[in-house]
Formats: sequence, C-alpha cells, structure tokens
Amino acid sequence: MILENLRNSSLSWQKLLVASIADPHELLTTLKLEPFFSAVSWKAIDKFPLRVSRSFVSRMEPGNIHDPLLRQVLPLTDELALQAGYSSDPVDEQAASRVPGLLHKYHGRVLLILTGSCAINCRYCFRREFPYTANNPGQLGWQQAIDYIAADTTIEEVILSGGDPLIMPDKLLAKLSAALNAIPHLTSLRIHTRLPVLLPERITTEFITWFTGSRLQPILVTHINHANEIDQQVTQAMLKLYDAGVTLFNQSVLLRGVNDSADALITLSKKLFSIGIIPYYLHLLDKVSGTAHFEVPDAEAKRLWQQIAHKLPGYLVPKLVREEPGMPAKTVI
Ligand SMILES: *Cc1c(COP(=O)(O)O)cnc(C)c1O
Ligand code: SF4
Repeated sequence: MILENLRNSSLSWQKLLVASIADPHELLTTLKLEPFFSAVSWKAIDKFPLRVSRSFVSRMEPGNIHDPLLRQVLPLTDELALQAGYSSDPVDEQAASRVPGLLHKYHGRVLLILTGSCAINCRYCFRREFPYTANNPGQLGWQQAIDYIAADTTIEEVILSGGDPLIMPDKLLAKLSAALNAIPHLTSLRIHTRLPVLLPERITTEFITWFTGSRLQPILVTHINHANEIDQQVTQAMLKLYDAGVTLFNQSVLLRGVNDSADALITLSKKLFSIGIIPYYLHLLDKVSGTAHFEVPDAEAKRLWQQIAHKLPGYLVPKLVREEPGMPAKTVI
C-alpha cells in the first residue's frame, strides 16, 4: 500500500511536468491578459521556448502584465535587441568542463550537470545559450564523473545541477547518490533546484528518503526570486525537507522589474526564513545575449544591498555576487 502510494505520487509530479504551459496565448488567457497577445515575441520563443508549470502560473496575479512571476517567463521582443557586452557563454563554463557534465572550478566542490531540462524556462537564464547536448553526460557518462571525483581527494562536496537535477527520476538519483556515498572523501551532497517552487509535488517521500538516507550531509539550494513564488504548497514542501534535516539555502538573481526594490528583497528574505530557508546569494545577472532588459547596474545593486543590510539581521542578508571567469569563487560585490 505504501509502495503503491509512492509510485502514484511520483507519477503525479511527472504528469504535472508534462502538463506545463508552452503556449503564450494560453498563458495570457489564463491570466486574463488577452490584450497583450501582441507583446509576445515568437522569434524569442523560437530561440528559447516558453515553459512554465501551472502551479507557478497559479501564483501570478490575473490582469497584471507587470506581475513579477510572469515577467520571468514571458518572451518579449526586448530579448531580440543586440547588446554590447552580452554573449553566449559569459561565465566561460566551457573552460571548466573536465569530463562531460562535470565542472570543477572551485576548490573542494564539483558541479555535475545531470540534465539540460528545467520545469521552467527563465528568460534571464544562461541555459538559453549553453550547449547542453555537447555537455550532457547522459547516464553512461556519470561513471566518468564518479571516477573523476573518486580520484581527487580534495573534493568534499558534489553539487547536482543542470538544468534541474530533480527532473530526473528518484530511482536514478538514488543510484547516483549511493555511488557518491561510497567515495570516502565526500562529506556533502548539494542539490541546486527550482523544482520545489515549480512543482512542490516533486518533494516526495521517496526523494526525501534517498536524499537524507546517506552518510552525506544533504543541502538543497532553491532558486526563488520573489516572495509571491512561495504559496502554501511550496511552504509545505520546504517544511518537509526542513523537518527531515536538509539544510536549505536560496539563491536569487537581481532582476529589473522582478525584485529590484529594497521592499521586494526584504519581504523575500523574511518569507524564505519563515519556511526554513537561509538567503544565500543574490546574483548579478550573467550577461547572456537576450537578457539585457533584466539588468540592474552595479551601482544600483550595491545601493539596494546596503538598504536591505540596514534593515535586516545579518543572517537574512544574502551575499551580492557575480560569477567571473577564472576566479576561485563567486566574486562578492
Ligand atoms: C557556483 C558554483 C559552485 C558553487 O559555489 P558556492 O560558492 O560553493 O555556492 C560550484 N561550482 C561551480 C562551477 C559553480 O559555478
Ligand atoms: S530554473 Fe535555473 S537553470 Fe532552469 S531556466 Fe530557470 S534559471 Fe535557468
């Protein structure tokens, strides 16, 4: 009976994933924003499709074309403007790739790209340009990555990333986790994911069981940009993880028109903490082609950061960072 339930619940998140919205007219109609059909750029969709879970859309405000959640997913003509300083690989990911799907840029930790897929296509994402097909190890390639990690005793932490690693079925992830668990110099397993926000149903008992069931300390880093992304369902999913002993952090990207005000950032930090999540990083935008309309200039970002630092306890103030090629860590601004 219990097994049956597990199977059903894992089926249901996969079904919900398939039922994501990909049609901009459906998205705008759902939100009673039909007058804005003409604002959609089909050319932008050609380059990087629209994709968003229904659950995430349910947290958008109907009738508001400026909704901070909608802005993250709606393909606009702004994306087609060519901008000096914006390129297809601004953080030079290609240079750090040792074996397919594995990035070893920083001391003590490696990042494993398990898939190029996400349950959302964030318009500001570096993924829109990243050559995943060349860098996607597939399950066969995992062994190469595991061998690399096993051979380097300076590596203590493995970060599962993507795309979104939680797109993968629990059976496969549990297998990978078991292989990592057997490498004695590893101490922690970290997952970078946006799925708990897009599909809270993804946080199944099966997931929590394998994630917290090994020797490796479980850390989960969510990606939430605005307090409105957190509803009752997301809260329940996060509290399940929290109660199971998972350390929860959040990273946001500072985005024009989404969270570029002290109020929005303060509300976000407080809301995150109320559901067990520590604000970790506030990233400046990676300069990826097609994303310049989301940019908040450095000077303004610093001002915003100071404003929130003056109003919040230190543990609620995320580090303001940027990723720069060739640096030994994220650069704190
Ligand atoms: C961001 C990143 C990490 C993680 O860095 P932390 O500062 O530990 O969060 C690890 N590897 C790569 C390649 C990264 O880009
Ligand atoms: S969830 Fe993360 S990796 Fe996926 S599209 Fe959004 S920003 Fe990119």
